[in-house]
Amino acid sequence: MDYYNENTILYLNGEFVKASEAKMDFYSQSLHYGYAVFEGIRSYRNINGETVIFKEVAHFERLKHSALSMNMPYPFNTEELIEATYVLLDANNLQDAYIRPLVYAPANMSFSKNTTSYITIAVWEMQPFLGEKLLRVMTSSFQRPNPKGFKMDVKASGHYVNSILASQEAKANGFDEALLTDINGNVAEGPGANVFFEKDGKLITPATGNILAGITRATVMDICSELNIPVEEKLFTIEEMKNADAAFFCGTAAEVIGWHSLDDVPFKKPWSETLGKIVEDAYKDFVVRPGTGSSVKKYEGMNVE
Ligand code: PMP
Repeated sequence: MDYYNENTILYLNGEFVKASEAKMDFYSQSLHYGYAVFEGIRSYRNINGETVIFKEVAHFERLKHSALSMNMPYPFNTEELIEATYVLLDANNLQDAYIRPLVYAPANMSFSKNTTSYITIAVWEMQPFLGEKLLRVMTSSFQRPNPKGFKMDVKASGHYVNSILASQEAKANGFDEALLTDINGNVAEGPGANVFFEKDGKLITPATGNILAGITRATVMDICSELNIPVEEKLFTIEEMKNADAAFFCGTAAEVIGWHSLDDVPFKKPWSETLGKIVEDAYKDFVVRPGTGSSVKKYEGMNVE
């Protein structure tokens, strides 16, 4: 996957620079200890042909929440970052894109607090994150981090070492993706997505506390309430999930993607007959519906190299 080429523009601390020429500090506390926070956002070309960043305020506000929760200075402004992202999409000629803001630390080999934070935003064209086929999912031997050791509602870079281990293990065993439990053995989430299952006409998703309760998860719940699909948040086991009629992952990158099986136990219903399929279709419509994000503005005065 090529994330950038010679023409790609990156947002770096208030400036638009060539990605191939951008520099960062090898002595950064972020690189050595995973002490950084980030977001994963998508933009879509909506049905009116406009570029719209989906749930842009929610994502940039979560970035701020993540940084402040991790004791990182956050001198950035949500509105300005959203504006900069639109400029960046335009500068890179992208409408359907993935957007990756990252807040990182200066040179610091100690564990002390910093007085400065840096920010970069990268954009690239992205194929469906988990593909488009129904997924064969494996229960991971890795559990999600202990919420008493980490702040699991925060999108911190270091947490993703756990995600990488779980995802690589699943693929090494011939599966498409992993499902992780929490420290008590209840179902938590995927390496980069939340999970729902269907049982007897209802959708069930893990309760908050040990998960990153995603923006897509909240959108799925909104869609369900619009469509009168009952949703319950509760703790449940892998065994309960294997007994389900159907299941799916949801997340910004993954969008809504159905499962074929869990640990090679196929789900009972064909995907086309599930509530998940209804949600998948509704989500696809929703993200390109005008009014789901701020519309494109002209950003005169921003200096794009
Ligand atoms: N859980 C984890 C661990 C994730 O990395 C993500 C992706 N950000 C999600 C859930 C889904 O979150 P969202 O819908 O906000 O992208």
